[in-house]
Amino acid sequence: MSHESNSLLIPLHVSYIQNLGKNKDDLMYHLTAHLRMNAIYWGLTALCIMGHREALDRDEMIDYVMSCWDEETGGFGAHPDHDAHILSTLSAIQILVTQDAIERLDINRVVKFILSLQQPSGVFAGDSFGEIDTRFTYIAVNALSLLGRLKELNVEKTVNYIVQCRNFDGGFGSRIGAESHAGQVFVCCAALTILDRLDVIDTSMLSWWLAERQLPNGGLNGRPEKLEDVCYSFWVLSSLSMLKKVHYIDSDKLISFILSAQDPEGGGIADRPGDMPDVFHTHFGVAGLSLLGYPGLVDIDPVYCMPAALIEKMGLRKGWQALERRTG
Ligand SMILES: [Zn+2]
Repeated sequence: MSHESNSLLIPLHVSYIQNLGKNKDDLMYHLTAHLRMNAIYWGLTALCIMGHREALDRDEMIDYVMSCWDEETGGFGAHPDHDAHILSTLSAIQILVTQDAIERLDINRVVKFILSLQQPSGVFAGDSFGEIDTRFTYIAVNALSLLGRLKELNVEKTVNYIVQCRNFDGGFGSRIGAESHAGQVFVCCAALTILDRLDVIDTSMLSWWLAERQLPNGGLNGRPEKLEDVCYSFWVLSSLSMLKKVHYIDSDKLISFILSAQDPEGGGIADRPGDMPDVFHTHFGVAGLSLLGYPGLVDIDPVYCMPAALIEKMGLRKGWQALERRTG
C-alpha cells in the first residue's frame, strides 16, 4: 500500500468492489450492516464510472434492495429488518434508477415517507427519530426529483431553511448556526441546483472558500485546518462544477493525490495514501477523477452523483461544468 501509482488501476478496483461482501464471516461485513444499501450504491456507481456496470449481478442486487423495503413506513432500511431511513431510501432509488428497475417501487408510498420527514422549519429529518441535517434536505430533493414528484415539495420552505444555514464565509453548515463544511456545501448547492435556486448563493465568495480547500500536497480538506481526504475531492469539485469554477483547483495535483491513495495490491481507494481502502472512498475518488476529466472514465452528474447520461435521459440535467475528458 505504500507504493504510489500513476494511473487508475481499473481492473483491480472492479475486482475489489466485486469481492466486497463476499466474505460474510468477516467482522467488517457485520459492522457495516447499517451502511449496506449505501455501499451497494457507491459500488455500483463507481463501476458505472469505470465502465463496468455489469460487474455486479443485476437481479441479485434488485432483489436485495427490495428486501430492505419497510412496508410499514414506506421507506427503505440499510439492511433487511432495519428501520427505514432517508439515507438508505435515496440509495435504493438511485440503484433502481441506475438498474432501470424503478417499476419495482411503490412510488406513492416512498414519496409519502420522504415528505413526512419535512419539519415545520423546512429542514428534513433522517427518520422518525428526528435528527435534522441539510444533508437530509438534499436527499429528499434528489429523491423526489428522480421520482418525478418534486412538485409535491414545499420549495419555499425548503429553500428558506437552506438560506438560513449560509455563513459569513459563503459556505453552509448542517443546520442553522453550524460551521461551514465542504460536505454541507455540496448538499446545499446540489439541493439549490435541483430547485433552480442557485441565485441565493454568493458564488464568488463560496468558490474561493472551496478553492482554499486544496492543500500543498494536492488533496482537498473539508474545512480549514483539517487533513486532506479523498472524499472531499468529490464534494468540493462537484460544488465548483455547479458554480462553473472547477478550474479554480489544480487538477494535475489533485489527480496525483487521488491516485496515490489507491491500494495497488488489493484494489480500492483510501481516504489518504497508506490507509485502508473502502468502497466509500473508492466511489468518491473515482467520481472526483471523472469530474477532473481523467481519461477513459464515464461522465458523472455532480448534482445527483449518478451517471450523467442517465440523468440527461431523464431530462434532469442542470447547467454544471466539468473539465474536458483528457485523452490517453
Ligand atoms: Zn473521507
